[in-house]
Amino acid sequence: MRQAEGVRIDLHTHSAVSDGTDSPAELVATAAAAGLDVVALTDHDTTAGWAAAAQARPPGLTVVPGMELSCRYLSADEPPVAVHLLAYLFDPLHPAFAAERVRLREERLGRGERIVTALAADGYPVDWRQILARSDGGVVGRPHIARALVEAGVVDSVDAAFATLLHHRSPYYATKADTDVLEGIALVRAAGGVPVFAHGLATSRGRVVPDGAIGEMAAAGLLGLEVDHPDHTSDQRAHLRALADRLGLIRTGSSDYHGSNKRTPIAVCTTEPDQYAALLAAGTGVAVYAD
Ligand code: AMP
Ligand code: FE
Ligand code: FE
Ligand code: ZN
Repeated sequence: MRQAEGVRIDLHTHSAVSDGTDSPAELVATAAAAGLDVVALTDHDTTAGWAAAAQARPPGLTVVPGMELSCRYLSADEPPVAVHLLAYLFDPLHPAFAAERVRLREERLGRGERIVTALAADGYPVDWRQILARSDGGVVGRPHIARALVEAGVVDSVDAAFATLLHHRSPYYATKADTDVLEGIALVRAAGGVPVFAHGLATSRGRVVPDGAIGEMAAAGLLGLEVDHPDHTSDQRAHLRALADRLGLIRTGSSDYHGSNKRTPIAVCTTEPDQYAALLAAGTGVAVYAD
């Protein structure tokens, strides 16, 4: 065991089971090579990568089973705001939560097909069945469509695909009926998990919720805020840190690594060991994979 101060913890990464590019086995190898002691696998809306990550786990690396749940914050006077809820250490077999993940994955299929059909109708050379086949039975998202656009020579990078055709204001954008975040929090807690609000102030991704909504989420059982994230400015991090302290929430820091689908390297932001300890203590649905 290394000294507690030297422990490096990244609690938000994606594999090719959702919209990253490393297989779960490659991802844990990448984590170890980057000098991480703890990595959480948090694919969107699925736990399908957990077993392979556990199996391939190099000695000395702790793998935290997690997920990023697609949610929306609903209010009386504003349109819904897309919010992502990280969930750690929940029981993957909890029936209501498992059923909600199935529903979300089906939403992704319908919505992905709508985006691709609209692009194809305007002459972009993309094909839904090909994109689906390339996703390998995993969770389909806009990054899969972005890669298809790169491969067809329409744009020269995934980033460029998002900047031009796939961003949330694009005429090709389609929404999906994501989980009401207050229900999402309740489901994660019911399954013994630890809900953490992901990249809550990342304005580059679209509208963000006001502090009052985060207060409501805390009252509904939210346990943490992702403070250090590549998409947050230093002012946004300071604001979230203060808010976490005020609401008594765990503070996390993570890379949101997506392999080559994003330029963000693994471990570029990390979580403090005492905050990780608090998260571990709160999760009762399943154990970490460790030596
Ligand atoms: P979806 O879940 O299908 O709405 O797609 C959202 C996903 O797209 C996020 O989880 C990111 O992985 C990715 N993403 C969002 N914006 C960008 C961007 N500008 N460049 C690359 N990937 C992005
Ligand atoms: Fe993603
Ligand atoms: Fe996210
Ligand atoms: Zn993510």
